[in-house]
Amino acid sequence: MTIQSHIETLREAIPSGVTLVAVSKFHPALVVREAYDAGQRIFGESRVQELLTKKERLPGDIQWHFIGSLQRNKVRQIAPFISLIHSLDSERLLLEIEKQAEINTRVISCLLQIHIAEEETKSGFSPDECRLFLEEGRWKACPHVRIAGVMGMGTFTDDKDQVRKEFRQLKSLFDEFKTGYFADDSSFREISMGMTSDYPIAIEEGSTMVRIGTLIFGDR
Ligand SMILES: *Cc1c(COP(=O)(O)O)cnc(C)c1O
Repeated sequence: MTIQSHIETLREAIPSGVTLVAVSKFHPALVVREAYDAGQRIFGESRVQELLTKKERLPGDIQWHFIGSLQRNKVRQIAPFISLIHSLDSERLLLEIEKQAEINTRVISCLLQIHIAEEETKSGFSPDECRLFLEEGRWKACPHVRIAGVMGMGTFTDDKDQVRKEFRQLKSLFDEFKTGYFADDSSFREISMGMTSDYPIAIEEGSTMVRIGTLIFGDR
């Protein structure tokens, strides 16, 4: 199967309201170009340097999403063009994105990354940390950052019930935050969840954005 046919198959499997982010990390520009030629325009990368290299070699109408953990000292390099950062997970990162977005006279859309999986990782707010972050409200003083929703990753496991439970938790946090802080803000609308192994469950549980790499490009 070709990249083009993988993308076409996925488009049929994904409801029209769900955005497909093609995760191109570790795949060279030439391969990404095949997905572009199949009509894909949104790509996700998890490393800044790799993203910059690929961006240079690929068409200018691609919307690049940043999906990996983001160091503050690298925000400056992606601030001029990044279309969505999925991995906002601290106030310090927020303040740096605000600063760099302002310098570029842009408003940068970001998702609150929340740690929902059982696995220990360093990335993502815990649900309570995220509640506190929203309650403290300093994000309201950041006019160059648009908080557009939430992002999470399910546990890497064959236990579908476990993954479903985690996605449900993320959807329920989204609803809680929407009601509590963004009821009048139509920009707060994305639930980024679902990857190659679990995107059908994520869609059933309310995902609006799936991030899929392996199924499109093969193993990394
Ligand atoms: C790599 C990655 C993906 C894509 O994973 P696949 O299993 O290859 O579809 C999605 N989200 C994040 C945050 C990733 O790092």
